[in-house]
Amino acid sequence: MDLVSRESLYKYVASLEETYRNELLEMPAEHPCFTAQNKLLNTVSMIKFTIADASTIKAKPVRFGQWIKQYVDDELYSLTCLECNFHIKKPQFIGNYCPNCGAEMRGEEL
Ligand SMILES: [Zn+2]
Repeated sequence: MDLVSRESLYKYVASLEETYRNELLEMPAEHPCFTAQNKLLNTVSMIKFTIADASTIKAKPVRFGQWIKQYVDDELYSLTCLECNFHIKKPQFIGNYCPNCGAEMRGEEL
């Protein structure tokens, strides 16, 4: 699932609204595109208000990290989180997240 920023989406649509409003203000009412331009402006305004009124959830940015793998011998190794330097001497089972900082581990171990 991807989340979007209400603020950035609102600003983008508001800038479109301003552009369409300015175009409409410069357009004579008898212009053949005046009615269509007015409808476009109203639609963009409705979208802007819909974005402003939409329900939201609180979200935190996802941190991504990587394990640095350091071999002690051929089989024994330790892992260090690249994000927070959390060190695990003899990892038994490591999930997809650092147990210390919560970073999601992606990609190859270094
Ligand atoms: Zn970490």
